[in-house]
Amino acid sequence: MWKTGAVATIVAILITLALLPASALAQDARAVIDAASRAMGMEGVNSITYSGAAAAGNFGQSRTISFGLASTSIRNYTRTIDFTRPASHATGEATPPVVRGGPAPQPGPYDERIAADSPWALQFSIWVTPWGFLRGAAAHNATLRTRKLGDVSYRTLTWSPPQKAPSGAPYQLIGYIGPENLVDRVETWVEHPIFGDMRVEIAFQNYRDFGGVKSPTRIAERRMGMETFVTGISAVMANPPNLTQLMASPADRAAVSPAPTPTSALPATSEKLADGVYRLAGDYVSMAVEFKDHVVVLEAGENEARGLAIIAETRRLFPAKRIKYVVNTHPHFDHAAGLPPFVAEGVTILENDNSRYFMEASLSEPRTLAGDVMARSRKKPKVEGVVDKLVLQDATRTLELHAVKNLDHSDAMLIAYLPKEKILFSADFTVAGPGQPLTPSLQTLAANIERLQLDFDQHVTVHPGDPDRPLSRAYLTELGKETR
Ligand SMILES: [Zn+2]
Repeated sequence: MWKTGAVATIVAILITLALLPASALAQDARAVIDAASRAMGMEGVNSITYSGAAAAGNFGQSRTISFGLASTSIRNYTRTIDFTRPASHATGEATPPVVRGGPAPQPGPYDERIAADSPWALQFSIWVTPWGFLRGAAAHNATLRTRKLGDVSYRTLTWSPPQKAPSGAPYQLIGYIGPENLVDRVETWVEHPIFGDMRVEIAFQNYRDFGGVKSPTRIAERRMGMETFVTGISAVMANPPNLTQLMASPADRAAVSPAPTPTSALPATSEKLADGVYRLAGDYVSMAVEFKDHVVVLEAGENEARGLAIIAETRRLFPAKRIKYVVNTHPHFDHAAGLPPFVAEGVTILENDNSRYFMEASLSEPRTLAGDVMARSRKKPKVEGVVDKLVLQDATRTLELHAVKNLDHSDAMLIAYLPKEKILFSADFTVAGPGQPLTPSLQTLAANIERLQLDFDQHVTVHPGDPDRPLSRAYLTELGKETR
């Protein structure tokens, strides 16, 4: 052994000096967790159920994408969390927001469940409750800091779960412990296709004692600053005796998800509509339109995998031409989540001018968690806005993009039109079945077609009809007649 006694002693002293502040802080963190757990009456609490009324913001699906989200109200809202599994089950009666000119929305069952094997992007919502946060802090070596928010000085606890983000980076949860030793707020970041590292903040207000356990009576969640879920709590019970029943879902109850979560990423298969014009079939339909020295893609698909499949199929169809533009019909997340692979390829996004800034700013956010092709490319988005109309034209092709006026579904909707080929392309105008009344959105589309004098033979819709084929203009006119 080469170490002399003196060297070993010096090494030991250095190690002690290096570790001392950290271990002292760890002890402090433990003391803060213990004090908060005591103040919240959490000893022996392994599950909790709370109920009241809730409202879910129409995140990613609202008329204006970034402000004033319309909300789904949830009556008889009950959420039960079993921290030992961990799992969560929330039920209630959901009434979606009113659509102008449409029939009154019908309430339906609300049923949201998070299982032990759910991805972290869902499961985190168990750990950002005040009780979940403290349990996680106790189990995962939380660190302690102090931070001032306004006039209040908080002790903050930070911890990371064992689950890692798709990029391999750790997730981080930060909880703010207030002067009363209660968890006043929690913030974290999860991956999101549009927002990159999406910031989630949850504020806990008006704590009350419910039979020994403390609970906020108002929980307000914000994502990227937008109010996305608010719960007003009137009853709370720790370790409910009917836990099994509360966690079980009635088999006959259809699950209502607060936001659509498209999952399929079918490979894009193409169908030729005209020379150099292809319809790319899938759950979300896209089009590839050939120009002299480039290609324009209409609609990027519903997720990263689908965006990649659309790019691959477009390359197969036009191997010698670059994709210059991708047109995003509107910024709803299920239509925009396929954009990041296009950004990675340096393709310029064409967006309704109402959502141009939103899309550019959102896709420019830090992207350390997603680990997707866009994050790896380190490319920044190029987004151009279409105010009323944009005509893309060269010697071989004319493609018109039009902003849709007076549409309740989105104030940032584009439709595309090929005048020579007489093809119309649109998203999200709900096509009613034969004999059914024209929906308000289809009436709006018909009015816009009239205003713009668009003469088309084929109507390609992003959501495929049944049967899955381009629709004719006669079809739309017939529908109009039926309702007169
Ligand atoms: Zn939409």
